[in-house]
Amino acid sequence: MAIREILTVPDPRLKEVSKPVEGGVTDEIRALMDDMLETMYDAPGIGLAAIQVGVPLRVIVMDLAKEGKEPQPRYFVNPEILPLTEDMAPYEEGCLSVPDIFDEVERPTECRVRYLDYDGFKVDEVATGMYAVCIQHEMDHLEGTLFIDHLSRLKRQRAIDKVKKAKRLHARESA
Ligand code: ZN
Repeated sequence: MAIREILTVPDPRLKEVSKPVEGGVTDEIRALMDDMLETMYDAPGIGLAAIQVGVPLRVIVMDLAKEGKEPQPRYFVNPEILPLTEDMAPYEEGCLSVPDIFDEVERPTECRVRYLDYDGFKVDEVATGMYAVCIQHEMDHLEGTLFIDHLSRLKRQRAIDKVKKAKRLHARESA
């Protein structure tokens, strides 16, 4: 396993639409998911899409276990979601590709999720609560959409400027 570099805005690769994984869940895909999980834990974060480490494939990892609890890694290959309700709720979201920016996004509170798991088995389940928020956020990544794209243009630009500025400062400090 290896920690990979996480792309941050405004990297154009984050706007790419990811392609389906062909040929099922191979060892190669599992190795990618292992790296992604390690990268996510190291960051730390609760969800990561493959495009965030520069791989344009429909692969997501997630762990919603509370801090200090037993890890509960989840792996999604070729996930599909379907909203199950018109009820929307706001939730304060953040993203490893938009570090240190948090803002509220409204999303359906319940959705159906279908995907292949780590072992290539088909899973079909209902997501609510944090799981529903997180899987919808990660699915957006597969379409090249970031949570800040749900905000006003002004807020989005301000977020991108902030990330760019923080990166420049960091580059200067570590130079
Ligand atoms: Zn994200």
